[in-house]
Amino acid sequence: MNSREKCIQLYERASKLMPGGVNSPVRAFKAIGGTPLFTKKATGAELIDVDGNIYIDYVGSWGPMILGHNFPDVVQAIEQTLRNGTSFGTSSENEVILAELVLEAFPSMEMVRFVNSGTEATMSAIRVARGYTKRNKIIKFNGCYHGHADGLLVKAGSGAATLGIPDSPGVPADYAKNTLVAEFNDISSVEQLFNEHGDDIAAVILEPVVGNMGVLIPKDGFLTFLRDITKRYRALLIFDEVMTGFRLSFGGAQQLYGIDPDLTCFGKVIGGGLPVGAYGGKRKIMELVAPSGPVYQAGTLSGNPLAMAAGIATIKAIKEYNIYPKINKYTETLCDGIKEILSGKLPFTINRVGSMFTVFFTDKEVFDWASAKSSDTSLFAKVYKGLLDNGVFFPPSQFEAAFVSFAHGETELDRTLTAFKNAVKQI
Ligand SMILES: *Cc1c(COP(=O)(O)O)cnc(C)c1O
Repeated sequence: MNSREKCIQLYERASKLMPGGVNSPVRAFKAIGGTPLFTKKATGAELIDVDGNIYIDYVGSWGPMILGHNFPDVVQAIEQTLRNGTSFGTSSENEVILAELVLEAFPSMEMVRFVNSGTEATMSAIRVARGYTKRNKIIKFNGCYHGHADGLLVKAGSGAATLGIPDSPGVPADYAKNTLVAEFNDISSVEQLFNEHGDDIAAVILEPVVGNMGVLIPKDGFLTFLRDITKRYRALLIFDEVMTGFRLSFGGAQQLYGIDPDLTCFGKVIGGGLPVGAYGGKRKIMELVAPSGPVYQAGTLSGNPLAMAAGIATIKAIKEYNIYPKINKYTETLCDGIKEILSGKLPFTINRVGSMFTVFFTDKEVFDWASAKSSDTSLFAKVYKGLLDNGVFFPPSQFEAAFVSFAHGETELDRTLTAFKNAVKQI
């Protein structure tokens, strides 16, 4: 490990210029202390910081880099597109191609609209759901993250299911009151909200496999129950697959669990590392979106040709190289290895679906916000520092998902497990 002198210097400069020295809070290492990484370069499964330290990367830009960094097909697609200009303010062929690829992969969707981030996707999907149902309230789950739009920055008060209380100053309570909060994997908390507010619930939005309180797996029947109850009350079911879309399978979590949602949101992988989001669903719902319908939503850079090119190249490569068996197997082997190292030494629970996983430092089963919160975050911070010092970069918070890419192989596996051994020894 080299010194982190340049990272420290940059962080000092950045802290005077940008809130917390970062442009997105998760980068700030607040949960574990220390200086955020300033990356100079990334290739394959590795990040290299400005001091020249090399890390095996399990953040993958928080999800998009499923092929690994600087994947040749993606780089080439961006380079070729770049020569024709960076933004046109008109339609271009790449939008049509990416739309075809996405709709082919997700049979629940008949139409799609591209936006620039996951936040925009969920915010817009909810607007469409409200426009379609002519109702105001939505249900979200305690601990699920759907971007930083006002009505979604709500988790819960105490108790199983309460009216929303905003998490952030600046979100009017008047607005947040339309967000109802249920507990993930808790059927009765959802039933209760429908009993009380059924006539005014426009949609239920969720991460079908949660990544944003660490990885949580839906219990048997939970997703089917949500599909049934939303149908019964004529509310829409919105799958936020910003993280899981093209990650858990080519058809996302909905393919894996066999659920047919009304609307689906994307981000991360579909942009291949460039800013893209999307939302889509049944034609009769999506036709409400402007200009074919009255629900307004627009974007100066939406469908940007470079971003579309990166998305197309990424999705094509995922298909062509059939990446899922490799990344899923790697993740399984890695989790087995971690289990062996931690067993009898530290309390832990590993949740994994496909190529996303979280090591929770608790011996309880983790299936909702409360059980996730039972993790020992100070123990997490200690192990985390050991891993970083041993050249392995995990998301710097207990409540995030780690991602494996197509570029992770035998060498990375060995180095990661050695780093785990060392990190545990140092505690
Ligand atoms: C990352 C994420 C978002 C927000 O996407 P941004 O592109 O960061 O705005 C929304 N929903 C889920 C499930 C996410 O993981």
